[in-house]
Amino acid sequence: KKIILSGIQPTGIFTLGNYIGAVRNWQQLQEDYQCAYFIADLHSLTVRQEAAKLRKQSLEAFALLLACGIDPQKSLMFIQSHVHNHAELGWILACNSLFGELSRMTQFKDKSAKHADNINAGLFTYPSLMAADILLYQADYVPVGADQTQHLEFTRNVAQRFNNLYGNTFKLPEAYLPPEGAKIMSLQEPAKKMSKSDTNPKAFISILDDHDTIIRKFRSAVTDSEAKVMFREGKDGINNLMTIYSVVTGKTYEQIEDEFNGKGYGDFKLAVGEAVSEELRPVRENFARLMNDKAYLEETYRAGAAVAQRISDRTLAKVKKKVGLLANP
Ligand code: ATP
Ligand code: MG
Repeated sequence: KKIILSGIQPTGIFTLGNYIGAVRNWQQLQEDYQCAYFIADLHSLTVRQEAAKLRKQSLEAFALLLACGIDPQKSLMFIQSHVHNHAELGWILACNSLFGELSRMTQFKDKSAKHADNINAGLFTYPSLMAADILLYQADYVPVGADQTQHLEFTRNVAQRFNNLYGNTFKLPEAYLPPEGAKIMSLQEPAKKMSKSDTNPKAFISILDDHDTIIRKFRSAVTDSEAKVMFREGKDGINNLMTIYSVVTGKTYEQIEDEFNGKGYGDFKLAVGEAVSEELRPVRENFARLMNDKAYLEETYRAGAAVAQRISDRTLAKVKKKVGLLANP
């Protein structure tokens, strides 16, 4: 089986963007691939975090993966910091990453504009650590949202450079974009992507929002003044709602345009809210149940880390030898 690997940061409850762009697809890939999914807690340190809150969010994020149907019997599931090989290979790859290429990363530019008081070295070398996450497991495919394609290209470049310098070591991973190519946008500023770390909760749907909250957030979603449900250039707000509705119901844009022909945005927004709430209902229920069983969660991530450590040891041992680190007998 081909290997799939992906991660998500414990920076808050997952949004509908994370769900549609990532986790929903991860669940579907489990049957056909050998999958590994992890909570990227080391990555989240690139933005200032409160310790107690981060610990809570990491546990919740792990439970959310399970609640979304990731199955530890089928997929390897772990917490990134529990497998120290990530940080170790991350350092070695940082030493093989160029200042120039890291400077061109749009996520670095976006996040350093947003956190101008804390433009730290980790934020800058984030792509080197992400490359380590992927290359340690010799992944064939990395299912990520459209916002991460540049980092994946970076990973391939670093892997290629390393292979050229030291001989074939890493498999070059390929992006596995969701079939719809979906990038879900903010409900309040539809030119920006939906992010779980957004400070305005009206901008995103959390996958644990209750029915009424979901309906209310869609009702106040920013659209345009045309009042026609049509997928067209420039209608960012409506396009986003149509994408969401299409992914959740399986309907095409054309079918959606027919369905709401002659109706206003109010009816459409309500229909989107109802469909999303229904889709997320099992996630809300599973999550509540899982958070009542901490022992099960702990046992699951402990076992996952042990396996991940063993698998990734193989790649790291090769790398250390190739770059000339003296073996510790
Ligand atoms: P943060 O704001 O803390 O960076 P995030 O919402 O961007 O949080 P990540 O943990 O960085 O979430 O990303 C997890 C996965 O979700 C990645 O595969 C990413 O590509 C995907 N993703 C994030 N935002 C969106 C979005 N708006 N639409 C589709 N996919 C997304
Ligand atoms: Mg992100």
